[in-house]
Amino acid sequence: MKIIMLGVPGAGKGTQAKKIAAKYEIPHISTGDIFRANIKNGTELGNKAKEYMDQGLLVPDELVVDLVVDRVGQEDCKNGYVLDGFPRTIPQAEALDSALLNMNQKIDYAINIEVPDQNIVDRMSGRRACLSCGATYHIINIPTKVEGICDVCGGSTVLRDDDKPETVLKRLNVYHDQTQPLIEYYANKGVLANIDGTMDMADVFAAIENTLEK
Ligand code: ADP
Ligand code: AMP
Repeated sequence: MKIIMLGVPGAGKGTQAKKIAAKYEIPHISTGDIFRANIKNGTELGNKAKEYMDQGLLVPDELVVDLVVDRVGQEDCKNGYVLDGFPRTIPQAEALDSALLNMNQKIDYAINIEVPDQNIVDRMSGRRACLSCGATYHIINIPTKVEGICDVCGGSTVLRDDDKPETVLKRLNVYHDQTQPLIEYYANKGVLANIDGTMDMADVFAAIENTLEK
């Protein structure tokens, strides 16, 4: 099962992608997580990506496409994967499609999690991410058992630099401009499923399971 997650920043793509990956035993590939790991390790890719991420901008296509194409070609992706945060532009989607065609593969589902922009600033200012393992929480909706400490690994949970309200507004604009056209792109391929992302986390997941198991 090859799945793409679509939706505004903060729609719940990462939250749901982790649950999909666990249930269907496929890798969760998050380009945002890959960039954050590179930033943490001080790599050249991380340093380049950070310049764009801190401003709420997309990292240039040439820094992300080869990385993902290489990742989905690896052995553990044979039975499928869930892509979270990629593609984010039409050229990225086209590059992915042509790479998949060469491997005799195609995307089976594009899950579009719909949440209005008005809900997003609240969600993002409450989001906390673990510095060590990347688990995400929300201070009100999905709190950690002990404030500031990750339930999974005991690491520290922090507000992401790009989750400050002014950067979130910029990211929403970038989404509408560059990423939203992908909804039509995948609808035209007959693989789009729209899911109401304003429901609570478990109900969103139940709706996704319904789609994947229909
Ligand atoms: P994305 O990967 O789309 O940017 P996340 O999965 O990180 O979004 O979710 C953004 C924030 O909203 C996180 O703090 C997360 O815990 C919270 N969240 C996710 N799903 C829901 C939901 N259904 N209802 C309320 N809050 C949610
Ligand atoms: P995310 O964790 O998915 O919210 O991504 C965080 C940031 O990483 C984005 O705001 C972009 O700057 C960058 N990023 C992640 N994925 C991509 C992508 N596919 N194309 C361009 N930039 C990306």
